[in-house]
Order: sequence, then C-alpha cells, then structure tokens
Amino acid sequence: MDCLFCKIVKGEIPSTKVYENEYVYCFKDIAPIAPIHYLIIPKTHISGADQINGENSHLVAKVFEAAAEIAKSEGITDGFRIVTNCGDNAGQTVKHLHFHLLAGVKMGWGPESLGKID
Ligand code: 5GP
Ligand code: ZN
Repeated sequence: MDCLFCKIVKGEIPSTKVYENEYVYCFKDIAPIAPIHYLIIPKTHISGADQINGENSHLVAKVFEAAAEIAKSEGITDGFRIVTNCGDNAGQTVKHLHFHLLAGVKMGWGPESLGKID
C-alpha cells in the first residue's frame, strides 16, 4: 500500500520521532502551524476517523493515552488541542488516521476558526 505515514512508521521515510510504543508513533509535523505541532498515529493503517470501529477503536484510546504521556514528558503544562481532519471538507491530506497535537500558543475557537456557517 502506498501510504506516506505507513512508510514513516516503517522508517522508509525519515521523521523526527517524539514518542513511540507498540501501538502508536508520534513525530513532528513537517509544516508546523503552532510552536508545538506533533502528529500521533496508530501504527496500523486506518484511513481516517470515518473508519474507526469496534475492531480498531482501542488504537484511538492508545493515541490519547500517548498524548497525555507526551504532554507530561514534553513539559506541555499550559494546555493542548488534539484535532483529526476527516475527509475533504475538513482538509484531510494524508489518508492514514492521524491526530494533530497542537500546543505552545493560546488558540482561538469559534466560527472564525472554522469558516462561514451561513
Ligand atoms: P491533514 O492535512 O491530513 O490533517 O494533516 C497532514 C499533516 O501531515 C499536515 O499537517 C502536513 O504538514 C503533515 N505532513 C505531510 N507530509 C509529511 C511528511 O512527510 N512528514 C511529516 N513529518 N509531516 C508531514
Ligand atoms: Zn497508512
């Protein structure tokens, strides 16, 4: 399968590793939009959040467990945001489930950050 993030997990494409365990891999986003911008991914290929089901949802729990550990180990004490984009309207560009961990800045929230709703 020709998947960029599967290749990153296998080490076929280099990445800056932040954290890894049996289930998940965390690395720095190549084009950060916040002072801290990591991607946390299940090592198993899941194409997006619309493919989460009873068979694989334990991996999503592993992602969030990892996020809490990473926040502690990286000294992220002022808060963080976890985002997953799914499908075209959300702007998903890599079709391997990934969670953006954003931190290091006070973030906005609300319609302005999501676009027009009317
Ligand atoms: P999406 O747009 O699908 O939510 O997020 C994909 C993310 O992957 C983007 O933030 C993009 O900068 C990042 N990305 C794309 N290609 C690479 C790569 O080769 N290495 C790393 N570290 N990040 C990448
Ligand atoms: Zn993949």
